[in-house]
Amino acid sequence: MLQLNNLCSRYPEQELCFTLAANAGEVTALIGPSGAGKSTLLAMVGGFTKIDSGQLLHDDQDLLPLTPARRPITTLFQDNNLFWHMTVYQNIAIGLAPSLRLTPEQQARVQQVASQVGIEALLNRKPASLSGGQQQRVGLARCLARRQPVLLLDEPFSALDPALRFELLELLRNQTDRLQLTVLLVTHHPEEAARVADNIAFVHDGRILEQGKRELLSAPQTKELKAYLGR
Ligand code: ADP
Ligand code: MG
Repeated sequence: MLQLNNLCSRYPEQELCFTLAANAGEVTALIGPSGAGKSTLLAMVGGFTKIDSGQLLHDDQDLLPLTPARRPITTLFQDNNLFWHMTVYQNIAIGLAPSLRLTPEQQARVQQVASQVGIEALLNRKPASLSGGQQQRVGLARCLARRQPVLLLDEPFSALDPALRFELLELLRNQTDRLQLTVLLVTHHPEEAARVADNIAFVHDGRILEQGKRELLSAPQTKELKAYLGR
């Protein structure tokens, strides 16, 4: 379980403080208006921004003293950070070893993950020759190959057409169940949250204003969430 206990990061413009618990095997969707603090929440968990107070635990381990690379976490951004001069195979491999020198076990793992996300036929291609959906599959494969228990995704599929988006969300759902991942998914599409998430948290002005199951979307309580959903 990933726990944020009044985890705060203060900036001149805004103070962000989050309390949230996310279980293994569950997708927690973070929804909310632009500027609410969703990306910053992921950065706080991933270790990419300063923390001023509060607690961050994973299975009772304190993550705050750990550098990003030592946290049991991997992150997929909308811009998937693929390297254009490398093959798909290398783009996945670099998640395991920056030197690209993989052990036989790691090489097998790259093949296995590629087949799980449906890109085994693309391993020798360069990302520029792939569709947007295929590129995001490569990004997801790189994350999954690292076998970290916590997966953070910041609007990973937003640039894709709805059909492709839902296909990749389905893939994410399956991998979450299969690997018992703890997933935080930032999305600005409430229908994505409704489709894949076990839990939904509404982020507003640096706080989680409401959280709950999918019913949150059909029965919003606060005027802010009602306004966000256009009710
Ligand atoms: P969202 O992803 O929900 O659109 P962000 O997390 O990108 O929102 O931004 C929320 C707010 O957090 C920003 O408007 C800003 O006030 C504050 N913030 C986050 N990171 C920084 C930073 N490194 N420096 C200054 N302000 C920051
Ligand atoms: Mg953002």
